[in-house]
This record gives sequence, structure tokens and C-alpha cells, in this order.
Amino acid sequence: MEKSYVGMTQCFFCQKAKDIIIDTHLRKRFDRYVGVMNMEPCSDCKKFMEQGIILISARDDDIESKNPFRTGGWVVVTEEVLTRLVTPPELLEKILKTRFCFVPDTVWKRLKLPRSDYQKELFRQQRQEKRNARKND
Ligand SMILES: [Zn+2]
Repeated sequence: MEKSYVGMTQCFFCQKAKDIIIDTHLRKRFDRYVGVMNMEPCSDCKKFMEQGIILISARDDDIESKNPFRTGGWVVVTEEVLTRLVTPPELLEKILKTRFCFVPDTVWKRLKLPRSDYQKELFRQQRQEKRNARKND
């Protein structure tokens, strides 16, 4: 990876570039194309979080990770909707506080949330695999 003294901070929530950071110590270098993440939302996400809760789809097998592999699904729901979707109450309370939540693909599908192109392709492949498995029985 090419190194640079200039890096972009990236919004953790929507992954858009936020601001440019310049390393004044000229020691620590940033990977040029990899955003530096912090948990401070960009102005757009901040607004979304005031209005509702951001749901971000992530891979089932990576959901425990702090920054899981994202599969492109991204929606904002009202607190009321979230209350209907999430149990147990302790989890609901936590999400209401953090204002965002990663949702594994399987759950995303079950909740019928709008799918990203990546997810459409993923679910299509899963269906295909299931079909093939049945054929081989
Ligand atoms: Zn953002």
C-alpha cells in the first residue's frame, strides 16, 4: 500500500470521507486509501441519529467484530420501529443510546429491509446453493 502523510478521516457510520488530516509529526504515516476511523459521526449521520437509528448490514460471521464487514444495506428507522424490531429490552436500550446498530444479513433479510446490490447477489447465491444441495441429496 502506498504511504502518504495525508489521510482522510472516514465516517464510521456511512464510510464517506469526512475531513483531511495532515500528520504534523511526519512520522506516523497513513495508508493513502484507507480512511482513519473514529466514532464521531459526520454531519449527515449526526442528523440521522437525531431523527432515528441507523441500521447497517454486516456479514453474519463477522457481526461480533467491532468493525464488521459491511454488505451495503443502510437504513434509518424511527425509535418506534426499532422498538418493534428489537428484543430483549436491554439490547433495545443499548441501541437507543448508541443510535446505530449492525444487523447481520440473515436478520436483515428476515426483517425485509431494503437490500443493497451486494446483498441481492449474496441472497441469490445462497438460494442457489440450497437448491444445489437439495439436488445432490
Ligand atoms: Zn456519516
